[in-house]
Amino acid sequence: MIVAGFWFVSGLGAAAADGSKPGTAASAEIYRFAAGDLEAVFRTAAGGIQLESIEDARTRTALAVKGAPLFSLHMRRVSNGEERMLTASDGWGKTSAGSSRGGFVFEWAAFPEGELAGLTVRATARLDAPESAIRWALDVENRSADWSVRRCVFPQLDLAETSEDGALLFPRGPGEVQRGAWRREFHYRGNYPSGWCSMQFLAAYREGASPTGLYVGLHDPWGSTKHLDFLSTPKSRTVRLSVDVPAADMNQAGNDFRSSGEVVWRLLRGDWYDAARIYRSWARKEARWWPSLGPEGRADTPLWMRELSAWVMTGGAPEECLPAVKAFRAALGLPVGFHWYRWHQIPFDNDYPHYFPTKTGFAQGVGELQRAGVCVMPYINGRLWDSKDGGAEDLEFSRVALGAATKKEDGQPFLEQYGSKETNGEPVSLAVMCPATKLWKDRVRDIVLRLQRDEGTLGVYIDQIAAAAPALCMDKDHGHPLGGGRWWTQGYWDLLDAIRVAMPPGRVLTSECNAESFVRWFDGYLTWHWQYPGQVPAFPAIYGGAVQMFGRAYRGGPTQDLAMRMKAGQQLVFGEQIGWFDPKQAVEPQNLEFLRKVIQVRWNHRRYFYAGEMSRPPRLSGDVPQVRADWQWSGEWPVTTDAVLTGAWRLPAENRVLLLFANVSDSAVKARCVLDLEEYGLTQSQVRRVSSLDGVKSSDELFAVERLAEPIEFAAKSVAAWELTP
Ligand SMILES: [Zn+2]
Repeated sequence: MIVAGFWFVSGLGAAAADGSKPGTAASAEIYRFAAGDLEAVFRTAAGGIQLESIEDARTRTALAVKGAPLFSLHMRRVSNGEERMLTASDGWGKTSAGSSRGGFVFEWAAFPEGELAGLTVRATARLDAPESAIRWALDVENRSADWSVRRCVFPQLDLAETSEDGALLFPRGPGEVQRGAWRREFHYRGNYPSGWCSMQFLAAYREGASPTGLYVGLHDPWGSTKHLDFLSTPKSRTVRLSVDVPAADMNQAGNDFRSSGEVVWRLLRGDWYDAARIYRSWARKEARWWPSLGPEGRADTPLWMRELSAWVMTGGAPEECLPAVKAFRAALGLPVGFHWYRWHQIPFDNDYPHYFPTKTGFAQGVGELQRAGVCVMPYINGRLWDSKDGGAEDLEFSRVALGAATKKEDGQPFLEQYGSKETNGEPVSLAVMCPATKLWKDRVRDIVLRLQRDEGTLGVYIDQIAAAAPALCMDKDHGHPLGGGRWWTQGYWDLLDAIRVAMPPGRVLTSECNAESFVRWFDGYLTWHWQYPGQVPAFPAIYGGAVQMFGRAYRGGPTQDLAMRMKAGQQLVFGEQIGWFDPKQAVEPQNLEFLRKVIQVRWNHRRYFYAGEMSRPPRLSGDVPQVRADWQWSGEWPVTTDAVLTGAWRLPAENRVLLLFANVSDSAVKARCVLDLEEYGLTQSQVRRVSSLDGVKSSDELFAVERLAEPIEFAAKSVAAWELTP
């Protein structure tokens, strides 16, 4: 049996060769490649090369069908601005296919139009039989004196529907799964790296008796700027996946393009969790942002931050904040993190970055809170400079900042508005600063160090760095490649390195959202936007222990109490630190009772979350009801989840697993727990189970593994935890 191979098939015949038969495609030729169970078929014809299908050879399931060009190149003629799109499918004067070491190579050249004839595109694929994967690199050699490569869209795949409730996994927030998208209007576009496109992989799969699917990973260790896109066409029951990459030096004639890292197509027999594990195993080996992890997790993150289990947020002068924060701390009896907004005299989202002077008594308030077991983390923005930064006047913007602001192609700065107003009623326009510039690096460092050294705060939250997608800055004075590329992440890496080496011991940096490419430089990520129906903990499955996660936005509305329990329960099983609450809302009796249970359970088992890793969440079988509440993320925002939320966290070196069950509904739920103990490293016929309910130990016994499948009743508004060991 051939498990990895390369067949050359001419016409409709079935003659096979060993791959040593490259050639120029004059008439149509079919190429079939197999990597383990993954098969891809291409057709070369006059002018182009087209993907015909991707198939799971074992279940004979089509995973992708013909339609989308394998790549599209967006070109611009620099002398007159003319735009052209070239695709892999047609128009080329010469195409060829041949074998390369461990795989094959396609080439497109001789585009029959003057200057475009200087383009050569080469797609090199390695066949990875053990993993049933095809690993790609794409190179565009641009010998044109007048045309520039603006963007390269690669890969593009028309994904086939594999079942009526087929699933799409995409990296918004923690990861999200939507079902049946082939049959309805569906569009996701993620700008990477950002909070809404936090990781570089996608998957389409079916579950059930014959699971199969396709994992597509952009294994780019630099985290370059790119866009991930899913778009359904219900009429043809396809979903087009495309990865749109802006080119470096996109306005310069003759710029080459090279895909960064590998583009991986891999057979997926599993679900979102298995896809996340594939990505994790790549990221921990290759990603430049993977931190150094020891037996206790991040040694460069102080223990107080790794252990912290609850957060509140509010803002204003010390006398406005301190009483409520201290009241919550006292009610909880555990350490609390406090995200302090509006501690500065300038208004919010206005006159940035002139954060000093502070409001009166800030440093004293910080000291008082931290002595009382509250870890203080003030807000600053790490990305914006107000274009009218002295009230309604341009104080320093034009004179000092403009040179270091990101620029559009016409030389104007990228400006953003967030609803804040100048004193004259005009909207505040904030410039996006370029992280490659010394001015911005120095300014952010000075603000952070002043807060930590002079004001004494344990943390500083630097807004937007891990939330907002890169700007395609075109300012040639900044010294970075223009437009796309990998310079944006590197600019911030340098900026943050300079802070981390200089900050006093025991301090932390955090940022908004969870763009993965900055994990190593932050101690914590704010998960406030993890608010979507269908979200799954793919990010925690990859980065649990590598960065601490905290800070869902808790909101109001008629179902706010249930929404609060749903969010807190989900945070617990996702491995997040619980919060951030308005301290006044959190101490209301109907809230505090449940929050206290969730936070106590997290605190009791905190080591699992910072020293361990996520394992596959247990599944409950039986009649598990669902709950639905308005999470008020943006207007009315209905979210439905199971009434009992489950999670699993492991300390693999100690062979211990923690299973969590949070019943967020107000009724008891009876169900069976479906466990694969081998997956948790437990192969014995009996296990020791230490159970706790609502943070209080309830039993410690040896259990025959069959008995774990007996029906269990989860009490209303309760949190059960099982610790299993051999
Ligand atoms: Zn720049």
